[in-house]
Amino acid sequence: MASDNKNFQQSLDKLISESKSRKDENWSGTMSEYMAFVHDDPNVAQSAPARIYDMIVREGSDEINRPYRLPHYEDIVKYRFFDGEIFGIEEVLHDIVRFFRAGANRTETGKRILILVGPVSSGKSTIAALLRRGLERTEVPLYAIKDCPIREEPLHLVPRSLRPKFEELLGVKIEGDLCPVCKYRLTNDEQYRGEDGSVKWENMPVERIRLSERSRIGIGTFQPSDPKNQDISELIGHVDLGQITRYGEGHPLGYKFDGELQIANRGLIEYIEILKCDIKFHYVLITVAQEQLIKAPSFPQMYIDTVILSHTNQTEFDKFKSNKENEALHDRMYPIYVPYNLRVGDEKAIYRKLIDQSEFKDKVHVAPLTLDMAALFAVLTRLIPSKAAEVDLLKKAKYYNGEAILEKEKDPVDVRRLWMEGKDQGEGMSGISPRFIMNALNIALGSAKDQAKCINPVDVIRALKHQFDHHIGFSDEERGRYVELLMAEKASVLAEYRERAKKEINKAFLFAYEDQAQALFDNYMKNATAYCLKRKIVDPVTQDESDPDEKLMRSIEEMIGISEGARGEFRQGLFVFKSDAIDRKEDFDFKSYPPLQEAIEKKLISDLKNIVSLTLADKSRKDPKTLERKHEAVSKLLEKGYCPVCAESLLEFVGEMLRKEE
Ligand SMILES: [Zn+2]
Ligand SMILES: [Zn+2]
Repeated sequence: MASDNKNFQQSLDKLISESKSRKDENWSGTMSEYMAFVHDDPNVAQSAPARIYDMIVREGSDEINRPYRLPHYEDIVKYRFFDGEIFGIEEVLHDIVRFFRAGANRTETGKRILILVGPVSSGKSTIAALLRRGLERTEVPLYAIKDCPIREEPLHLVPRSLRPKFEELLGVKIEGDLCPVCKYRLTNDEQYRGEDGSVKWENMPVERIRLSERSRIGIGTFQPSDPKNQDISELIGHVDLGQITRYGEGHPLGYKFDGELQIANRGLIEYIEILKCDIKFHYVLITVAQEQLIKAPSFPQMYIDTVILSHTNQTEFDKFKSNKENEALHDRMYPIYVPYNLRVGDEKAIYRKLIDQSEFKDKVHVAPLTLDMAALFAVLTRLIPSKAAEVDLLKKAKYYNGEAILEKEKDPVDVRRLWMEGKDQGEGMSGISPRFIMNALNIALGSAKDQAKCINPVDVIRALKHQFDHHIGFSDEERGRYVELLMAEKASVLAEYRERAKKEINKAFLFAYEDQAQALFDNYMKNATAYCLKRKIVDPVTQDESDPDEKLMRSIEEMIGISEGARGEFRQGLFVFKSDAIDRKEDFDFKSYPPLQEAIEKKLISDLKNIVSLTLADKSRKDPKTLERKHEAVSKLLEKGYCPVCAESLLEFVGEMLRKEE
């Protein structure tokens, strides 16, 4: 045995230098050559969960800019692997990656069945699809024993007694035993028999393989067809009756290894609607997850290395959990909840992606704020009112989205706590799906195609309303609640759009808006600083001294409801904020302090209101000055991403609103 090992070491050294050829897609060779590859890069022999973990991590990650971190997610990152496909559920992805890491380390957690629980089109199948596709293009090459019916890991050839030595030599852990077919070939085929009668396992042929869903290599999908009439052989293969008469019962060559679990060996099996299937299927799956074995009746057991990924909806999962009969199964499953998106920005990104993939791309103009309003509606339907903080749903949506919104309260809302409360309440596990919203968007886009070639928020609100009138599957109560959120007079999407539309128009009418805002800001800061330092304002030219301009400061502060009594505190807070910013060497301009920015914008807008309503009300458009002003506003809107059609619609929408207000 000792000289065997020495010879092996020599050929190993030689082969390592030749191992460049492992890059070759169609490589085939012998077991000893394969071991040289493993020695060179132990990753080639990684287990299925390790392979999946590696393929995700290998693509890199980015930091997440969020003002808060949830407990247990302090180390959260954004994995590039899911970029452009999954939006806004980074915590979920983090959980999933953690599960694969546990699997790669062969911990107890990793030996459970992963089950994604969530509402329809929350991203469960997209996640599964990305993992399947990822496996098809992994960089690290994968090898198998040639002609093995389950394409097993060649290291299974290493005899048990030699494993400690080889593990040390190759730098990998060797797990699992030969499948019955390979074992049979090795012991019965003359070509693996040395002159002295020893088994030449190192001569077994090995080939490079690629996982492929279409070719059913390493990627399986299983969906219970008829739960009453399900055959377990769909999962674990079956005795080949034609061969059994030839070889006899229990013979390795008398079995068909075409069960979905055997197909999924080395990769992943996606089990759709797992909880709908018969309990005997669960036990097979648990044995595979736990012991990595298929125990088929009257056939030798088989080692399987695969990740079992399944998904189900909340109702089905709750039913499963409450059923006493399933108790033994509960702790064998690892549920990860996949809720809907709760951030408007991320939800919007989903629609953007879907529109870009559709026939409407470049054909229909989508006006600014259109997708924002659709996304806001979707998020609102998913939110649950907070018991801990005094925020309405609209405000909650804005907090979640990280929008700087004004806080008049003394204690600003703790977004982290708000988020955690929502998580406990199961927020995001119900509400309107992205699919429902996309259907409405598609209707709006479709009708825009021939006529205006542009859709705006009003079109979408209308299309959503239409969807509710013609969609089966909502109770009257749900429908009522959703329509309220969509178009009630207050705290609805329509109400929010009115506000935003007005702002858009005002900004368009404000010539050099940012310059004006900055000038007003500078003036305010000069006065507020003097106030805080109890100094006079000195005129730079005349050197005349005067008191800070209380009237100017109050006219801005009133815009955000700062009372007479609270003005000192507000100014002091601002003063400290400014000093800190300067200490940190940060720019300090009118956008630096969101409450003040809001106040300044409102002040500018209120000064402008009369001009705007005059211009928009001038239906005859004969006054050249008014016409000029309107023309300027439209070109401002075009710069901001409007087209002539939606710019005109916006002007009309706001004009109508201002007329009603008067
Ligand atoms: Zn085999
Ligand atoms: Zn447009």
